[in-house]
Formats: sequence, structure tokens, C-alpha cells
Amino acid sequence: METALATGQFEVYLQPKYQIRDGRLTGAEALVRWNHPKWGLQPPAEFIPIFERNGFITKLDQYVWERVCSLMQEWDKSGYPSINISVNVSRIDIYNTNLVDFLTGLMQRYGLSPSRLHLEITESAYTDTSRQLIETMGALRRQGFMIEMDDFGSGYSSLNMLTEMPIDVLKLDMKFIQTEITRPTGQGILRFILDLARWMKLSVVAEGVETQEQLERLQNAGCDYAQGYYFAKPMPVENFVSILTAQALAANIENSRSAFSAGRLDRALLVADEDEEYRAQVHRTFTDCFKVLEAASCEEAVGILGRHPYQISAVILSLTLQGGADILTAIQKERSAWKTPCVATGPLDMELERNAMELGATDYATKPHDQESLRRRVLRAMSTHTLQVRMRSLQDEACRDTMTGLLNCRGLYTITESLWHESSSVVCLFELDDLKKFNEKYGYVEGDHLILHFASLLRAHTQVDDVLVRLGGDEFLAVMYNIRSMEVAHMKEMAILRAYSESRYVDPDSVSCFAGTVLWNAEEPLDEIIGRAREILYAAKASGKEEYFLQKG
Ligand code: C2E
Ligand code: CA
Ligand code: CA
Repeated sequence: METALATGQFEVYLQPKYQIRDGRLTGAEALVRWNHPKWGLQPPAEFIPIFERNGFITKLDQYVWERVCSLMQEWDKSGYPSINISVNVSRIDIYNTNLVDFLTGLMQRYGLSPSRLHLEITESAYTDTSRQLIETMGALRRQGFMIEMDDFGSGYSSLNMLTEMPIDVLKLDMKFIQTEITRPTGQGILRFILDLARWMKLSVVAEGVETQEQLERLQNAGCDYAQGYYFAKPMPVENFVSILTAQALAANIENSRSAFSAGRLDRALLVADEDEEYRAQVHRTFTDCFKVLEAASCEEAVGILGRHPYQISAVILSLTLQGGADILTAIQKERSAWKTPCVATGPLDMELERNAMELGATDYATKPHDQESLRRRVLRAMSTHTLQVRMRSLQDEACRDTMTGLLNCRGLYTITESLWHESSSVVCLFELDDLKKFNEKYGYVEGDHLILHFASLLRAHTQVDDVLVRLGGDEFLAVMYNIRSMEVAHMKEMAILRAYSESRYVDPDSVSCFAGTVLWNAEEPLDEIIGRAREILYAAKASGKEEYFLQKG
């Protein structure tokens, strides 16, 4: 484990946390993974208990905390919106007498306010509410750290502890969410806990939210924040950064629209042009509504774009600038999801203009032009851009199955081009057999539950990057990556089928689940691969039913 730590085998994953009221990203929880060279990615349940016994956990936790602080520092520097991150604090760490010094030292070193770091103490740690535990938590809280009680409701809690422990946030255990919420009577307990929390001035985070229904119940009961597979699984830092960027850009669009009327200066405009006089004019024209950044060369422009990855609301780019066309391509690529509106400028030249538009410029302004018309063009480019982004998010809605949040058929075809498939990817098709009969027997509400349940099973058994689709009412598709052999693919398939058959929904008269799994050969069109999977599924179904009838007979 020492070697593993020294060689960077421990990786910090982040799971986003959202404000329920408006769906805004507010933070993340850091969860450690062991990327073992031989055994692959190990879940913490495999190694945390061992490290807690041998004391190594404190070193590992300190490593995780430090990584989290360095990330927050980096993001602050790049101008991302300020979010908080929760880290797990093991019970053993608390008896490390340097905990307060260590953590305050860390925050100073990274120039962060302690309120940015939330400390999750698991509820079982509170069972021995020693003086030392209460004092340490109290001291940390006085320093400004946010203290969260993790796994609340998991069975160790006593209401007494709530009054004794210095805490700011209750984190509802996922088992609690998943069982209490499905029972009609569970609602009363949930509401009671939330009322109690409010009365104690604690905020509440629900953990392990997997379905729309759970989210709605939590919202109705007045819960503040949520985290869970419904939104996103824990993910590598790079993936989290994409979410953060998208969030920042969405905010940027809103803000830049009001920037003109409100006269706020926190948004920037980049003018990249070789002509100093022209840059000075642009500066004067836009100074009332933007912070104007100037670049005289391509390198300078790239530098500025790199340092301010998202605050730049628009770019005015001279195509006669050496390398100007490259910048244009870069802007469109770097921020592939959202892009920055760009007004290209240059001489009257149809060829150049067409080129610019093809490379993704929002508009082309022929030089010379007066500043008033430039101002109008920039404004228009920004609103066109906003519209495009809106369209894209609308499209995204049309591409998702509203009940499960998985992609729908249309969504699958929309992303087909970007689906990378290599010899190590697998396509697995599932069908919930006789869903219709189930609906007739138990009603549509139960039928919906069954579908949601199956969707969360799929999420739980797949990786972050795998593609999950609800193809039709009772048909689901999973494209899974990094599966090296058919044998592993079958194990995956079986694990899902087994988990399903162990769930409470299975009723021998109505719904069983069948699957067809195939390796995806590169170059094979999507329709064909699905066709092949379907054949196997039907064969499985025919033989499965036969077996079943034989048994019955
Ligand atoms: P935890 O602190 O209660 O973390 C929540 C666990 O729930 C995570 O498991 C997370 O991946 C999982 N989870 C999140 N959303 C959902 C959902 O919608 N459905 C389901 N079924 N699960 C969900 P993970 O990452 O395997 O971590 C397990 C436990 O290991 C953590 O439980 C925590 O106690 C411990 N742990 C993880 N990282 C660290 C660490 O850096 N330090 C310490 N001391 N403990 C850690
Ligand atoms: Ca936790
Ligand atoms: Ca937890």
C-alpha cells in the first residue's frame, strides 16, 4: 500500500452533488479508488476496512484531502464557479491528535477557506461519542469546516447524538432513501427527519438517489441536496471538470445576456488583432459592458483563452492574423460542447468569409467597419449562440427517456457517430418479457417501478462511460467498454440478470428478463449489431420458455 500510494495508484473520483430546488451543481464527494496494476480498479469496500485496521487509512485520507484541496485551488485560479467538496474522515483519523492542525495547515497552504471542505464523519463513529471526538469536531467546526454526519439513518443513530455532536449537515443514508421512500408510510418518517433537521438548522443531503420518483419525494419533503446514480456516478476528475465547465458556461450565457443591461463587468471579450489602433477602438466600444482582453498575436490569444477557460463571452478574431484560422478551429474544438461565439474579421473576400463560417465562426465582419455595427454584430452573435445552446439542451431532452433518464432510441442514433467501438466493446440487449401482463396484473404504477428498478440495476452494473439506452418500452441496451472476452461479457450479463431475478418484482407468471450479448466488431453498423444481439435474445427466450413449460408440464 505504501508503494501504491507513492506510485499514484490511488485515484480520487468525484460524485457530483446537486441542489434539488434548481438542479444546480453545488459540489461533490471525493471517493477513493485503488487502480491496481494487476487487479484493476478496486472499490473502497475492498480495502478501506483493512486500512482502518492497520492504521494506513490516515495516510490515505490525508492524501485524498490534499488532492481535493489542490483541485479546488486550480479551479479557483481558472475562474470556475466556487464549489465545495466533501471528503470522508475515518473514525481513526479523529484520534490522530494532529487532525485540526493538519487540516487548517492544508487550507492555509492552498489558500482556501475551510468552509469549502466538508468533513463527512460516518455515523458509526458516533457510537463511541468520546470527549475527544466531540472536542475535535467542535474545534474543526470553530475553524470553519463544515461537519456532515454521514449515513444518517443507517441504524447506529440515536437522536441523542444529534444534540451532542457539533454538526452542520445531515447526510441521509442511501438504504434509508431506497427503502423508506418506496413505502407509502415511509413518507411520514422522511418528513419528520427533515422537519427536525430544519428545526436544528441543519441542511440535509440525500445520498444514493437513483430514480426520478425518489427525487420527487425528497423534493416534496423539503430536502436540500441530492447525490446519486440518478444524476451521476462517481467519476474521474476529468469527467467532473467537463460537468463543471458546462455548468459554468450555462451561467455565463445567462449572465452575458444581462451584462449589457446591468452594466456588469465580470465577463470578458477577447479581441485578437494585429492592428493596435483597431484593438484600442474595440476596447473603447465595449469597455462599458465587458472586460476587454487584447491579443496581438496568435500565441497571446491562445494563452488568454487557456487562462480564462470560460469567462470569455465572445471573441473578435482577425483572420489576417498569422494563425488566425487555427485559433478559430481551436475555440470550436476545445470547448466542443458549448463553443464560444466568434466574430471573424478580414478584408472583403468571399473565399475567406466562407472558410471562416465553415470553421465555425458565428459571423464575418468585413473591414473596415464602424464600431457601432461591430457592437451590434457581437450582440447578435451572442444571442444566436445562446439560442444554439438552448436548442442543444432541448435536443438533449428529446434524446432521453423521460422516465428513466436513459438515452432513448433517438438519443442512441444521435450519438452513434461519437460512439467509439473497438474490439473490446460489447453490446448487451435486455428484454423484460411480458411486461404487458405484469401491467395488467399489478397496474401501471407497479410496472413503472419495475422499469425504473431495472434502469438503476443497469446503472449500478456498468461503468461511467458505458452507454445505456431504453430502446423501447421493455427493451434496454447497454454498450459496455473495456470488456476483453465473451466470457467476461457473459459474466456481466449474468450479474445483471441475477440481480434482477433477486429483486422483489420477479413473479414467475409474468416478468422474466432475457438478454443477448455480442462483441462489437469495429466497422459493424449499429443496426446490424443490435440485430445480432436481438437474435441471440430471441433464441434465449425460446429455449428459456421451453424449459419453463417443460418444468411446469
Ligand atoms: P460513503 O461515504 O457512504 O459513500 C457513498 C457510496 O455510495 C459510494 O460508494 C458511492 O459510489 C455510492 N453511491 C453513490 N450514489 C449511489 C447510488 O445512487 N446508488 C448506489 N447503489 N450507490 C451509490 P464507494 O465509492 O464504493 O464507497 C464506499 C465507502 O467507502 C464510502 O461510503 C466510504 O465510507 C468509504 N470511502 C470511500 N472513499 C473513502 C476515502 O477516501 N476515505 C475514507 N475514510 N473512506 C472512504
Ligand atoms: Ca461519505
Ligand atoms: Ca454515506
